[in-house]
Amino acid sequence: MQKIEHLIIGGGIAGTTAAETIRQNNVSAIIAIISDEPYRLYSRILLSKPNFFLEKIPFEQIWLKKESWYAENNIRLISGKSAVRFDPQTKIVVLNTGEELEYGKLLLAVGGCARRWGIPGAERSGIFYLRTLDDAKAIMAAVKTAKHAVAIGGGFVSFEMCDMLRLAGVDVTLLLREPYYWDPILDETSGRMIEAVLEKGGVKIRRNTEVGKIIGHDLVEAVEINGGEKIACDMLIVGIGVFCPFAWLEAAGVKVGRGILANEYLETNLPDVWVAGDAAEFDDVILGEKIQLGNWVNAQMQGRTAGMNMLGKKEQFRMVSFYTTNGFGMTIAFVGDIRPLPDRIVISRGSADAGSYVRIISKDGEIIGATLINRTQELSAISKLIENNFKIAGHEKEFADTGLDLKKLLL
Ligand SMILES: Cc1cc2nc3c(=O)[nH]c(=O)nc-3n(C[C@H](O)[C@H](O)[C@H](O)COP(=O)(O)OP(=O)(O)OC[C@H]3O[C@@H](n4cnc5c(N)ncnc54)[C@H](O)[C@@H]3O)c2cc1C
Repeated sequence: MQKIEHLIIGGGIAGTTAAETIRQNNVSAIIAIISDEPYRLYSRILLSKPNFFLEKIPFEQIWLKKESWYAENNIRLISGKSAVRFDPQTKIVVLNTGEELEYGKLLLAVGGCARRWGIPGAERSGIFYLRTLDDAKAIMAAVKTAKHAVAIGGGFVSFEMCDMLRLAGVDVTLLLREPYYWDPILDETSGRMIEAVLEKGGVKIRRNTEVGKIIGHDLVEAVEINGGEKIACDMLIVGIGVFCPFAWLEAAGVKVGRGILANEYLETNLPDVWVAGDAAEFDDVILGEKIQLGNWVNAQMQGRTAGMNMLGKKEQFRMVSFYTTNGFGMTIAFVGDIRPLPDRIVISRGSADAGSYVRIISKDGEIIGATLINRTQELSAISKLIENNFKIAGHEKEFADTGLDLKKLLL
């Protein structure tokens, strides 16, 4: 059995960037990527963007690496196969085909999967999740004939899906379990601002709504909600979060919490095993606590750091991460740590009436995060303030005034 010096599980942006980083710094290392998807690296981000979804751009733009890239860089891509077991003592990874691969250093860049819905009727056709290119292809095909969609859940992907479905001319009813959009991550003012643009864009929103079952024969025909009311639909888009199937890693002794636990070097508790991307719950040196993120730039930069560290460097991962989206003419951005925990203080900047609204989140007197609606021009300044551990305590009133130019605070 040939020993693979750098074995990477997961061929998404984190895993591929790690492989690329290793190759850039070591021309002869043996590198392999195992990917359970049957594809080379593609843009997961584009899957929920209208230009791709509505086929306004060529399908080929989804690919981020040419097929020839892997051979040119001498990176073996083992696609369409899953890693199902590994033994940190013998350093052997077993694939679902029974193949065994010996590694020197191992990277877990396994991302996450769309959480499946366990309610009665969830096995019917016409129920879609959006995480992979195959998921997107299935939705794009269904939208061509669909008339009424029911979307479940709030969040970035749901917001973008509603936009795309409306642009495709499909009627959309959005069901929220919560009293307003993105509760509890956002406050009610922000949530209502988003709801207002969704409704203006023709999305019907039902709040405080629990689905009891999915009705239909082979195909979904309706959902039954609390009180017994039925909402007809011919497609159902479920966005209820991301699930990380870690049992096989725990069986190998990898410590997991919400994600795979790691220090600031992205090292797991096992020797020669690193983690990068959405799957990592790592020590964030800027925030001073463990955090798990789900955004593209974070995954890419972690792939880079993990790759360097697999080469024997000792680089800390240090980044203020952000996520932006737009739909229905609204731009939304999250930066840093926006978790609504009890030890946080929120300073509001702007207002729903003014059409732009920022929530600056502080902890122990320092800015740690922000949510921005229609005010993404301040994203970069806030990101730097977080990075600089800017002390906001005592300046709360100034920050609430949108006349204050945040860039000036960086001088
Ligand atoms: C529809 C959609 C839109 C998004 N839009 C944005 C956006 O606009 N901006 C933004 O910042 N972020 C966005 N994101 C989030 C972003 O795509 C992720 O943060 C990023 O892709 C994470 O990269 P990753 O490499 O960590 O994981 P992934 O991209 O999930 O890649 C992990 C890969 O590993 C594979 N894998 C898992 N387990 C195994 C195994 N045991 N064996 C083999 N292979 C395995 C998975 O199938 C997957 O291919 C979006 C996500 C989705 C789903």
